[in-house]
This record gives sequence, C-alpha cells and structure tokens, in this order.
Amino acid sequence: MPNSSQGKVITSQKRSQEMRFKARSVSRGIAIGKVVCLMGDTRQYYLRHIVKDDVEKELRRLRAAIRLCVRQLKKLADPNSSLAFNSASNIFSAHLLILSDQSLLTAIEHRISSELINAEWAVRKTFDDHIARYRVMSDEHFRDKYLDLDDIAERIMTALGGGTQQIGLEPGSVVVARELRPSTVVELRNSGLLALITEHGGWTSHSFILARELGIPAVTGIRRILRKLSTGDLVIVDGFNGQVLVNPEPKTFDEFSSVKTGESVLRTEAPAEIGNGFATTLDGQKIELLANVDVPRGARASLLNGANGIGLFRSEFLFNRFGGFPSEMQQFTAYRKLADQAGKGVVRIRTFDIDVGQKVDRSEDREANPALGLRAIRLGLAYPNDLRIQFRAILRASHERKVDIVLPLVTGISDIEESRSILEKERAEMLEDGIDVGDPSLGVMIEVPSVVLQIDDVLQTVDFALLGTNDLTQYILAADRDNETVSNWYRTLHPAVLKCIKLVTDAGRKHNKAIVACGEMAGSPFYVPVLIGLGIGSLSMNTHSLSNVYRMISGIAYDESVELVKLLLKLRTAEAVEQAVRKTVDTKWAHLLPPDMVVR
Ligand code: PEP
Ligand code: MG
Repeated sequence: MPNSSQGKVITSQKRSQEMRFKARSVSRGIAIGKVVCLMGDTRQYYLRHIVKDDVEKELRRLRAAIRLCVRQLKKLADPNSSLAFNSASNIFSAHLLILSDQSLLTAIEHRISSELINAEWAVRKTFDDHIARYRVMSDEHFRDKYLDLDDIAERIMTALGGGTQQIGLEPGSVVVARELRPSTVVELRNSGLLALITEHGGWTSHSFILARELGIPAVTGIRRILRKLSTGDLVIVDGFNGQVLVNPEPKTFDEFSSVKTGESVLRTEAPAEIGNGFATTLDGQKIELLANVDVPRGARASLLNGANGIGLFRSEFLFNRFGGFPSEMQQFTAYRKLADQAGKGVVRIRTFDIDVGQKVDRSEDREANPALGLRAIRLGLAYPNDLRIQFRAILRASHERKVDIVLPLVTGISDIEESRSILEKERAEMLEDGIDVGDPSLGVMIEVPSVVLQIDDVLQTVDFALLGTNDLTQYILAADRDNETVSNWYRTLHPAVLKCIKLVTDAGRKHNKAIVACGEMAGSPFYVPVLIGLGIGSLSMNTHSLSNVYRMISGIAYDESVELVKLLLKLRTAEAVEQAVRKTVDTKWAHLLPPDMVVR
C-alpha cells in the first residue's frame, strides 16, 4: 500500500550523522553494506576508479565505442539509406559533427587518465559540463541543444556496452539508482550485489520480481535518492520494515544484531517444507503450487522446493545470458535443462515479452510508450522469424517432456490464431524433416481487459491461461506498474480487478480450462485467501514465496475465503476492499503470516 511518508528524513539531517529514510519494501530482508550509486538510463553504469596500468585499456574501449557511434551515425545521416528521412539526416549529421569535435574527445580522455576513472563516468561528466553550459543560454535554439548532447552521450554509453556488464562490484555493495533495469540486476547478481535502493519502481516491477527471486533485499520510493546517498556511504537496508539507515550509529547496529556488515539475511524463521506440489485448505480444497522462474538458476531442484512444476518461465531473461537474441540451439538447451530440472512437473515457457527497443537496441527505435507499443506477442508476430525460432526450440524441448507455450500480452483471438498457425506449420515441417518434436499445449497470459471481456472465446481457443495480475492491474487501472508516483492508483485489490479475476475463473470452470494465477499477488500470503476465494486453484510464484503461501493455505478454510470474497465483491473502493482483507487477515489468519511480513 502506498506510504505517504516515503522518502522523508525521519531523524537528523547532517551528512555524517545517522539519517533514516522511510521507504517501501519490495523485497524482504536486511542488508548492511556500502553504497554504489548507479547512473544512466538505457545503460546503467557507476563510478569506478581504475589503476594507472588500466588507463590505456580504458582509452581503447572509449575509442572503439566512439568509432561504433560514428559508423551508426553515418548510416543514419546518409540520405540514401533506407532509414533516412530529411530531418533525421540533418539531426544525425549534426550529431556526427559534435562527435567529431576533437576537443570533446580530448576532454574525455584527459578525465580518464588524470582522474583515473572509467570511460562511462568520464563521458557522463564531460557531457554534463557541456550540457550545463548550454542550459543557461538565453537563446532557445542553443538551450535546447542539450537534448542532442544527451542523446549522443546515451549512444556512447550503449556502445560502451554499459559499465555493469564487464565490471564486478566490490563485495557487500548496496546499489542505489533512480530506477533499475532488470538487465542490470541480472548483470550484477553474480558480483558483490547485496541490496537495492531506488527512487522509482513498484512491487510488480521486473527488477524487484528478480530481486525477490534472487533473494536480494530491496526498498524503493525514496525521492531524490541520488542527492541523499553517495557512493561509499555505509547503509542498513531494512526490507522488512521499509527503511534505510545511513551512517548508522553504534547503538543502531544493536537493532540489527543478526546481520553482519557486508551481509544480508532474508528471513527470520526456517521455511516450512511444502508437500508434493499442492497445499490443502483445512476443509480439503487442494491448491496447486508452481514456481515462476526468471533466471534458470532459480529452477534448481532444491530451489523449486516441492513445486509442481514451473508455472511461468520468463524466457526474455535468456537475452541477458546470451548477450542478445539466443539461437534455436541455445534456447533448446536452456528449455530442455529447465524441463529436466522440473522433473515430472510441467514447464510453461512464455515467449519473449520484450519491447521493440529491447530487440533492436537503437535509440531511434525506442517507443514513447513501450507498455502500449510493439511488444510481447505483437513483436513476435511483427518479426515472425524470431517467433518461429522460439517455437522450434520449444517444440524440440517438448519431445518426451511436459513443456508448454504461453503467449504474452495477447489482446484478442487473432493473436492466438496467427501464433497457432505459425506453431503448427513449424511443427509439421519439423516432423517432415524427421526432427523429434513434442506436442506442447498452447496457453495465453490474461493481462489485458480485452481478453477478459472475451474470455469465453479465448478459453475455447487455448488449452490453459495464466492470469498475469501485474499487467492486468496496470491495464485495467491505466496505472504504470513501474511508476511509483502513480502507485496510489495501482491497486491490486481494486473492485474492478477482483471482478475481472472472477470473470476469468468462472469461465475457466465453465470451459474446464486451468487458470493459473502467476502475478506477484499469487506469492503474497496476504492476497492468497482472496485469490482462492475468487476461484483460483493454481498459483505460480517465486520460489522464495512457496513456503509462506503453503503455510497460509494449509491454515485457512476454503469456505472462509469464499465468504470473504462474497463480502469484497460488494465493496466499491480499493480502500474498502483493502481494509476488509486486512481486518480478516488480522483477526483470523495473522498467525499464518510470516512474523516479519509487511502487510501491503
Ligand atoms: C504479469 O503481468 O502478472 C506477469 C506475470 O508477467 P510479467 O510480470 O512478466 O509482466
Ligand atoms: Mg505481464
């Protein structure tokens, strides 16, 4: 639930003194470590000091990046190129001119060698100096030039490949950023990343879904974070109570005595063992428990923790692993491994849920509003060759294994029919070529109101459906799930969201099709009684949530959850629903919540 005091200093203000900031907890756990401030938009990077011997290497990296940018810009500025149109040619010619300015390059190189800093930081600082000079100019034409400079700086950052890919963090680093990209979390996870603090990003942002899956404590919602914290500050990140303590005093460490500096703890009690992939309510209702897997590491049998299979594999995270679009064989190997790890359980592979900017990685292709743009299955249908390759890999992996396909962001029957026809054609050709293939079931994500309104037709066209409450909430309420400033409007328990879920589960029963809840709601013991009362019989969640959800289901009666939902469906506001759920959980089921659970 949004917290009005987020980001306010609640004790003293002086830099070297202890400061506490209220925040929103998005991944539970406590960590004590040193701040590393991350900058950048599409590519995130941070200040890194280098030794004298590495200066030459850093300069070479910079020059190679500039050469790449020059090649890209020449192509874009070429009036005969297929990409060109008049004003674009002019703009990119101007960019080319700026980039050819030797004094700019000399200034960047000088910074690298005199300040002994990484290329990313030197580029940013040099461009920021230039931008500052343009911004104060009274002439509007010159003032606006900073946008061009910013664009060029971003292009160089992209060409540098982002600092985070090559560079390891010091052990015990707490990464601080305005906003965090999921790929950055993936890239940093194997170095010294201990915890995350951001200004923006909601509970359902992919970065925080990953943080929970990887067991990295995280808090968000601290305004102007980069002005409040500096690289090197010692901080305590309290992801149980939603707070950050900077420069903690000795007595404050006593409050966190279970955690050592440079380490993190994720839970305050031992996890419950979950049974055979199901939890049963007190009155005998069996609920299936499945795992969401984003990074294949999460699919190790020990981490699957008894789940009945992998309910959702977000395959787009393979892009990070393979540094771009994975080949058919790379995908096949990854999917086959997942199926082996899931054993007898099913694996549901969602086709790439990326936007066009992530596919082509060119600033000129970036959309103003990617959440409503050419993404997910739309992108697959617009570039059918990519979809075809992914289908082929899944078809191979499904041979003698239970591997299914899920289509993301479907908005109607045509998306399903077009995808199915590509799948069937591919399967027929592979069979003809004597390649071993399986016969995967085809399901869809229910994430958009249009498919809820057409749910009868949709369920008659597919084999099963995954209820993606993260996006469904976003699109029903027109509230960006990644934008903390509209979190007050992003209400998982909004009456309209509950009504949509009910429409879907009722139709699932009518058509005898499995409906699996797989958004972040499904992994929260607080929301689980509501989902079960709404008729959900299958929940897919991050593996760390399995035991908490198991404990909650095992301690409630199905009839009680149905009674609760009957009451909720009569309420008119999200606030009233939240209050009613909180009251019921507090009075009946508080003992089933983990002791450190933050009630959302
Ligand atoms: C969802 O939208 O609820 C979902 C599970 O998909 P993602 O979080 O990857 O968008
Ligand atoms: Mg989604």
